[in-house]
Amino acid sequence: MSSSTHRLDALRGGAAPVDHSARTVAALAGNPGCDRRAVLDAAGISKRNTAVHLGHPAPFGQSPFALARARSFEELVKADRWAHLRRLLRETLGLPISGISCVDIGAGGDATREPRHARTREELRRALEEGERADGERAGGGEAALVERPLLRLPVAGHEVYLEPAVVVVRAGGRFHIVEIKSFAVIDGAADPAQVAAASRLSAVYVYALKAMFAAEGVDPGLVSHEVVLVCPKDFANHPTATLLDVRLQLAALRRQLSRLTRVDRILDRLPADLTFSLEQSTDELARAVRTVEARYAPECLSTCEMAYFCRSDARAAGSLDVLGRVTRDDLGGLGSVDAVLDLASGEHGAPAGHAEIAEQLRHVHSIYREHAAAVVA
Ligand code: SF4
Repeated sequence: MSSSTHRLDALRGGAAPVDHSARTVAALAGNPGCDRRAVLDAAGISKRNTAVHLGHPAPFGQSPFALARARSFEELVKADRWAHLRRLLRETLGLPISGISCVDIGAGGDATREPRHARTREELRRALEEGERADGERAGGGEAALVERPLLRLPVAGHEVYLEPAVVVVRAGGRFHIVEIKSFAVIDGAADPAQVAAASRLSAVYVYALKAMFAAEGVDPGLVSHEVVLVCPKDFANHPTATLLDVRLQLAALRRQLSRLTRVDRILDRLPADLTFSLEQSTDELARAVRTVEARYAPECLSTCEMAYFCRSDARAAGSLDVLGRVTRDDLGGLGSVDAVLDLASGEHGAPAGHAEIAEQLRHVHSIYREHAAAVVA
């Protein structure tokens, strides 16, 4: 076991580790400058429990009703040996798929990750070899091999994380496709763009992890398609429909962001040796421990990270420009706090060197607000 693994275990303070998910990897990559999230995620610390202990719980996760709906829709897609999926693959991929052979890696309740990951690799290789044999005999189509609940492994910031997609991987027509089953509805051929965007980001993480796994196995990553089969209920009925999602843009963004993540061991080197995020300590002690690790708050954190209310409260207390969003912060480049901005806007003091242009703009906006306020009072 490496020394960073020991350190990360110690940071968790005896609590069971929480696994990464595609959502956490996508969120981490969405804020590559946040050391706090990188360390908490690498250590498998429950950010939800940490935020609750800190007195800043964030309303995250699906409601029990939404979870039950998602489960029942997934069961429907799986029913009769994936009969719906077989039809949908024929329609979306345009292949004469006659049947589906399916292996469930998660069956049997084996909770240990390494054997499950090894079995995933083994089954994917078998699907690849069988597919190559079959392709020699006919052009595409035939049987699709479906690997259910595979366990993928991906290095993130120098730390191995396991991803357990609630999706399946299919080999059809010579390519591997991620299948993402979502319970949001497609009405009149269109779905909620925010939900589709979120599904694209999550699917891109799976595609990325699968390509990385193929590359590590010496298999051409190009066999993994950037087209994800998105299965959703159609209109107001529960009838499954599918569409192909092209996740090339999301893959490129993910690749860029993951490469910008600081390696976790470098962050750990800067932290006190006895640091722990154990929930056994008092709220104040935990808050001090968490603040030891630098955060990079942005309003987007509110929809992607369970620590958002805690980090936002700290950022507000410090008068940080981060609470105004990245665009505003960058526009005010070089000014360190909300107080500094207000000071400059008031015009009571001269503009520091290099800020003359920003000062002029701020004072102009400030004068408009003053005139408007005076007009309202009059
Ligand atoms: S909420 Fe805090 S810990 Fe989470 S990503 Fe934002 S700044 Fe980092």
